[in-house]
Amino acid sequence: MSQERILTITSIILACWAVIIITWERLFPYRKGLPLFREGFWVDLVWYTIIQSFVLKIVIFDYIIAPLQHHFDWSRFQGVSNWPVALQVLLFFVMHDFYIYWFHRFQHSNKFFWRTHEAHHSGKEVDFLSGSRSHIVEIIINQTIEFGPIILLGASPEVIPIKALIDSMYGMFIHGNIRVKMGKLKYIFNSPELHLWHHANYREVFHANFATKLSLWDYLFGTVYFPGTKPGNKPENWGLYYDYPKDYFLQHAFSVKRFDEKQLLRHKWFRWYYNLRPAFIRLFVRRKKPLQDAGILPAAIIAEKETEAIQTGT
Ligand SMILES: [Zn+2]
Ligand SMILES: [Zn+2]
Repeated sequence: MSQERILTITSIILACWAVIIITWERLFPYRKGLPLFREGFWVDLVWYTIIQSFVLKIVIFDYIIAPLQHHFDWSRFQGVSNWPVALQVLLFFVMHDFYIYWFHRFQHSNKFFWRTHEAHHSGKEVDFLSGSRSHIVEIIINQTIEFGPIILLGASPEVIPIKALIDSMYGMFIHGNIRVKMGKLKYIFNSPELHLWHHANYREVFHANFATKLSLWDYLFGTVYFPGTKPGNKPENWGLYYDYPKDYFLQHAFSVKRFDEKQLLRHKWFRWYYNLRPAFIRLFVRRKKPLQDAGILPAAIIAEKETEAIQTGT
């Protein structure tokens, strides 16, 4: 089957899966009342899901893995290329999931690497799209380690799009704001009931539930946290315990140097930049209360009001 045909099929499956999860979120929500256009929705969709993914795909495959392949091409050993595609996918699935469990755990315990992961935890409202919010460095490391061996070992060309599809589908599932009872399967497969706890702002879960697809690792290595209750609906029960920028570029800048986003709004040029995005979206989305549901404008307005208050001394 040609690569183009595989890509078309995987794209259609992914689109259908997104519709299923969104419907599921409406019918059986884990947290009630979360809007579809929740805070950070457009940043996650436009910047992380579309633009960042597109750019990093080129960086990772063309500028990192391709040169590596030039020096380390092990496909001549035909280690996996003669295996059935399903077995190849299974091998890389388990290998990468094992790696990512440990790397994720490391990110939570190392101050430097935490800065490459905090973006993923910054959302106060977690849903099917939240999995896309990952720092550039985190994606480059994880996807190079995920797809590099597949290419270097000369696996079948179908393995990459199938693996990428599983990643996306599973990412939507475990972040989905959906009620799921996994029964005994929870000991093997990760689910929203475990991963949504990982996104909760609770001390107990900062070092727990690191699994991405196989919860087995958490059970095996003693890092599972599953109290049988939910974190609760209050925004403070979710995300980070400290303020985190709302803007995509500021989120990346914040990982290098800490600053107060609200203080930056004292500067005229920054206010202009900060309101560019909501102003642009306002061109397309007409609402009675502009963009309030999308959670884009309030941050800017609140911060601006606070800045005005600081300036006027009120
Ligand atoms: Zn984490
Ligand atoms: Zn997550």
